[in-house]
Amino acid sequence: MTALERALASQGHEKVADARAADVIVLNTCAVTAEAERKSRQLLRRLRRENPRAEIIVTGCYAELDASLGGWAETASRVVGNAAKRALIGEPGQVAAPVAGAAGPRPRGGRTRALVRVQEGCDNRCAYCVVWKLRGPQMSRPAAAILNEVQELVREGRQEVVLTGVHTGAYGRDGSEPGVEDLSALVRLLLARTEIARIRLSSIEPWDLAHLDLSLWDDSRLCRHLHVPLQSGSDAVLGRMGRRYTTAQYEQLVRGLQAAIPDLAVTTDVIAGFPGESQSDHESTLRLAHRCGFARMHVFPYSERPGTEAAGMAGQVAPEVRRRRASELRRLAGELRQRFEEAQLGKTAEVLWERRRGGRWQGLTSNYVSVSAECESDVRNIVKPTLLVVRGEAGVIGLIQDDCRGASTS
Ligand code: SF4
Repeated sequence: MTALERALASQGHEKVADARAADVIVLNTCAVTAEAERKSRQLLRRLRRENPRAEIIVTGCYAELDASLGGWAETASRVVGNAAKRALIGEPGQVAAPVAGAAGPRPRGGRTRALVRVQEGCDNRCAYCVVWKLRGPQMSRPAAAILNEVQELVREGRQEVVLTGVHTGAYGRDGSEPGVEDLSALVRLLLARTEIARIRLSSIEPWDLAHLDLSLWDDSRLCRHLHVPLQSGSDAVLGRMGRRYTTAQYEQLVRGLQAAIPDLAVTTDVIAGFPGESQSDHESTLRLAHRCGFARMHVFPYSERPGTEAAGMAGQVAPEVRRRRASELRRLAGELRQRFEEAQLGKTAEVLWERRRGGRWQGLTSNYVSVSAECESDVRNIVKPTLLVVRGEAGVIGLIQDDCRGASTS
């Protein structure tokens, strides 16, 4: 559940399951790739078609980047940039706008998991990225506000918080918070001062990870999962991207983390077909990803973003080559995921059960394995020890270790 959803709910607004029943729809868009923009436009058109009478408020990065929404702005009732969005929701519990419902692209985690924003903005200048332009410089939220929010989420019964931001690993770097000088200090504070069952970190850049205190993982409430964007396995490409690490540094970092934190899931992002990427660069990426043994990879074919340095670079890769390389990377991602999940079989993991679909409960382990299980009891929003038995179509099939009359793995 996002801060926006929680803020609206705290104002007494009711979220409806079907957008056709909403009086007001908030569409929170993304602009990280051209594909994300296309999906936002597509969703806007579908929502308008399904609910012609609703007030549709389009916000988020795409709205900030292009208020015309690629020519579809008139389909919306209002287009609200990020700064105005923040004014709408402020800190949780301070919604000022008369908004009566929310529906966005796939809100994650239902009522079990909550996203907690710890910072805004980014001081880097990756050559392919528009986000730093849209979100401005790095700015940390006050630690007291984050602590209050997590304590409130615990009171509401949430089991897991995901600490998010544009550049989460930069938390505290602006020096605005004496005593909570970095992300490690913030996590330490939340572990010490809250009863939250799980804390998960969202994406952390490689150069920030080197500063994280690995002893934090002595507390099993900190999820054994780190998302570390790789982007490319070629030093030449990383240099052109403006990334601040070499492939050797990245690999050493990942191996060190995997050695220090048992059963750690390392997930990543990779861009296929960045300008100037040769076939040999692409093959280097495949080999590095294989060696790193990622639990999951999010693969994006490179897409030009107007106004970025990369869009003007020589050596743009043909779109069909980008797509082919992306599909090879995705094939590898599937194999690596299978390998990681098979390594977990036979272990008993703590699974946070989130929803029931098709007669089976679905949940996530601390190390980001999707698990399903049969169970007659209502285990929603409960963390339960679960034997990981066998791989299924969409993850692992488990056996909940107690309170599950009639459970089977078939
Ligand atoms: S670190 Fe992330 S948000 Fe910052 S410029 Fe690079 S890609 Fe964009």
